[in-house]
Amino acid sequence: MLIMKNNLFSITLLLSLTLTSFNQMPENDPSVKKFNFLLEQFADLKIMRYQVPGFDSLSLQQKELVYYLSQAAIAGRDILFDQNYKYNLAVRRTLENILLNYKGDRNPEDFQKLIVYTKRVWFSSGIHHHYSKDKFYPGISKDYFEKLIRETKVGFPLREGQDLDAFIAEIVPVIFDSLVAPKAVSQEAGKDLLLGSACNFYEGVSEKEAEDFYIDLKNSAIKNETDTLISFGLNSRLVKKNGIIQEEVYKVGGLYSEAISQIVFWLDKAAGVAENEHQKKVIESLIRYYNTGDLSIWDEYNVLWVKDLDSHVDFVNGFIENYGDPMGLKATWESMVNFKDIIATKRAETISANAQWFEDHSPVNPKFRKTRVRGVSAKVITAAQLGGDCYPATPIGINLPNADWIRKEHGSKSVTIENITYAYDQASLGNGMLEEFAFSTEEAELAKKYGSLASNLHTDLHECLGHGSGQLLAGTRGDELKNYGSPLEEARADLFALYYMADPKMMELGLFDNKGVWMAEYNSYIRNGLMTQLTRIEPGKTIEQAHMRCRQLIAGWAYELGKTENVIQMAEKDGKSYVTINNHSALKEIFGKMLAEIQRIKSEGDYEAGRDLVEKYGVQVDQDLHKQVLGRFKKLNIAPYGGFINPVFVPVTKNGKITDIRVEYPEDYSGQMLDYSRNHSFLPTYN
Ligand code: ZN
Repeated sequence: MLIMKNNLFSITLLLSLTLTSFNQMPENDPSVKKFNFLLEQFADLKIMRYQVPGFDSLSLQQKELVYYLSQAAIAGRDILFDQNYKYNLAVRRTLENILLNYKGDRNPEDFQKLIVYTKRVWFSSGIHHHYSKDKFYPGISKDYFEKLIRETKVGFPLREGQDLDAFIAEIVPVIFDSLVAPKAVSQEAGKDLLLGSACNFYEGVSEKEAEDFYIDLKNSAIKNETDTLISFGLNSRLVKKNGIIQEEVYKVGGLYSEAISQIVFWLDKAAGVAENEHQKKVIESLIRYYNTGDLSIWDEYNVLWVKDLDSHVDFVNGFIENYGDPMGLKATWESMVNFKDIIATKRAETISANAQWFEDHSPVNPKFRKTRVRGVSAKVITAAQLGGDCYPATPIGINLPNADWIRKEHGSKSVTIENITYAYDQASLGNGMLEEFAFSTEEAELAKKYGSLASNLHTDLHECLGHGSGQLLAGTRGDELKNYGSPLEEARADLFALYYMADPKMMELGLFDNKGVWMAEYNSYIRNGLMTQLTRIEPGKTIEQAHMRCRQLIAGWAYELGKTENVIQMAEKDGKSYVTINNHSALKEIFGKMLAEIQRIKSEGDYEAGRDLVEKYGVQVDQDLHKQVLGRFKKLNIAPYGGFINPVFVPVTKNGKITDIRVEYPEDYSGQMLDYSRNHSFLPTYN
């Protein structure tokens, strides 16, 4: 399971699932102060980059491990292109050849459009949008495209014996014809899912045939008493050849052999510098799996991997997520290399370790408090390299493995990726959102200075303590609140976090040392709840999503409760509306009262009171304000989707031996994509 960032929205305004180590943040290091997080924006995409804080403090052996695993992470890039659609490598190579070798005029608008199209193909690992899965188009004429091919003449990925005319006849409809492969993944009810989907997991096989094939496979495993728990079909393409349906397995010597051999080559090097015996075993079992394609070895690997909790460096590498297959059986290839963020993990642990103190001092009726409470610890990692389906669009959290039986028997690893959310955050600082919606420059400055840390601490308190606090009264089952249960539960966890953000205990525990931190969190929470989250609601619609209901409920109710004292103020400036807090300390007490009431509602299962609160504050949208917010947001022109380019690890050698690994942060998106295509591309055009 990957936790993706919520699109269409700046992370500072979200409850990101993350924790931040502010000591480690690059803003404290003057040498990297001017690091550019946002690199470029085109179509509906923005390209960012991330830093790898802490890499320099790794041991040489750990650095080497990261380096080899990173090489393995980018070696599989071609696989994903081919999995997404069988013509994707042909299209990519065609476009790259024009970009690199066309000698004619590059200034016309149409050529520029082709460059944007190429960037989009790189981003989506194919011709279908990475999120909507719909085919997108270059916006130029076929004739112009054909002219570019003819004038470039050589270097195109022709099939054996194919001439340029035949090649053009084959590739042009793939790119331009809206009837050819319109969707990578179709979920249209009533239609054959496989025949309507362009993804390359099945060839000439209908939905029914695929279903029957895997039912038979499972039944014969039961009959022969072989492993019945394996994830049947996970690592193969199902094809019908001469009327016979068979699997082409992804492995060395099988489908995608050329790329998988490279992955194995680098994994083998990584095994040689593993941090400990257990980690060595983990990597070796992954190699065995890639060599054999045997899914029971894949499970064996996952069991070993999930138990590797001591190693500092860790990784994800394999055919893992099945979002790209309409039948949900087959997995796309992905990789992520990472290491533990010790400081951020420690802070989550500090909060967890004091869970009982927070519970005992909570502003709720003592009979609703837990006498014994356990905080949940979250692990935080630093991503060092992204590959396959994690690149360039990147998850902000990972919860693996996916096999239910392994999760049940052996547990799972759940991590948040701190340097990625930090980069999202930093990249969004320049997008104008804050300047547009913050009431004053002081507020904007406070947010810039402390916003990232503040929202991460909030998440810390929400996840590690908030949800686990409180208890039901005897006789309350817990399901009384029905459809209002989920926004109310989120509100309870948020209020717990908001209340304690402003508590002296936070500074006592050394979690921050300036009250600007919690003030920034209050400002952004209220601003978001009353105004900016409306950018995600379509005109005329009400709020349905639980987290959004929760935020508007809290902000709107707090506004109401503080109205006579003017604690929160709706202000007007130059014909625009703003919301600002006049008394932060009074707001803390209001949050405490709200927490007490929502805890009571939950503990007693008071459905009517819960419903009334959600309906009164969390659902309806002020139409005039909404219209205004949407208008102001549109002018900012913020790309809804984002992705990251990778850092580059460069070995420093002396007499043929690696003495150090340097990390570099390139800024050129196209440069990285072309480098990967030149130096890390191993598959033939047609597989
Ligand atoms: Zn929650």
